[in-house]
Amino acid sequence: MSGKKPYRDFNSYLCERFGCRVQKITLDAGLTCPNRDGSLGRHGCIYCNERGSGTGASRSGLSITQQLRSAKSYLAKKYKAKKFLAYFQSFSNTYGPLERLRSLYEEALADEDVVGLSVGTRPDCVSEEVLDCLEAFSAKSLIWMEYGLQSAKDSTLVTIGRGHSVESFADAVRRTCRRGLPICVHVILGLPGETGEDMMNTARFLAALPIQAVKIHLLYVVRGTLLEQWYRWGTYSCLSREEYVSLAARFLELLPPHVIVQRLTGDPHPEELVAPQWAMDKQGNLQALLTHMGEKGLYQGRLFRGGTEQPAGDPLSPTLAGPGAGTCLGRSGESSGGSGEHVWCRVDTKPRVG
Ligand code: SF4
Repeated sequence: MSGKKPYRDFNSYLCERFGCRVQKITLDAGLTCPNRDGSLGRHGCIYCNERGSGTGASRSGLSITQQLRSAKSYLAKKYKAKKFLAYFQSFSNTYGPLERLRSLYEEALADEDVVGLSVGTRPDCVSEEVLDCLEAFSAKSLIWMEYGLQSAKDSTLVTIGRGHSVESFADAVRRTCRRGLPICVHVILGLPGETGEDMMNTARFLAALPIQAVKIHLLYVVRGTLLEQWYRWGTYSCLSREEYVSLAARFLELLPPHVIVQRLTGDPHPEELVAPQWAMDKQGNLQALLTHMGEKGLYQGRLFRGGTEQPAGDPLSPTLAGPGAGTCLGRSGESSGGSGEHVWCRVDTKPRVG
């Protein structure tokens, strides 16, 4: 953990590793997803709109190089960032012909200020060939895989229309881990039908896997989604800020201390957000979480009870760090202390499908 934050934050990790401010640049490669192109479904996950959680830059005709160029000058000015991670975010970025994917990754890595990639995708969309390709890039660059899990409860994955199982996620983690690529897992708090205990079980499940980072998202309602219908029918209600803060803090407490936290708040598009409106206040939400954890003496790993499956080679270890790597953060030991489990239970809304 770094500074005064009660969790291990991503910016500090990148800064220690590269010796300067490194900023992620969100890219839209114009790909699709099996949950949209008809292979698994056409409507997508219940919370996803037509942009596939992306920027829509590809539809505007911007190439990867153009997207990088314009974001770099903005981020260099705003954050004094010197290096960048190219984040393939929209849709499923390992889903497509291998040669097309390779050329997209190469285009991003060709930028002299790009130190690596973050490749966002579904766990059921990652072939051995794509992993081989990304493993080859990892000899010279930092390559993160970002898998959307959302919940470790299969019935929830059915409810939200994910189209993959928890086991397919675990399989992707094992295959990625064998190649020494670091893994970031996306989870969502406040999914329909989930209790607080369901969400904490997702944290316990992840705590036992060889992953290196998480992104914890708030479920918010976006225009043009099935979730918007459920919300308007009154069959889905959003978490309050206090509930989210309490759940996110507890989630962090159950994770091992070495897991990097890449995200703790949602980042809704103002014109697309339906509810909750408090989701727009990113800084305020983060501050509320820090205040809550500070006042109660909570911190990441406080309730973690050992047992993480370790990869044969730690993807964040110095020997696998690759060129450009500075100081690498080692794994911290298990934390101790903490009290018994208190079952937090609030989200019990049953969605009406129809
Ligand atoms: S897998 Fe991702 S891109 Fe595809 S529908 Fe679900 S959220 Fe959208």
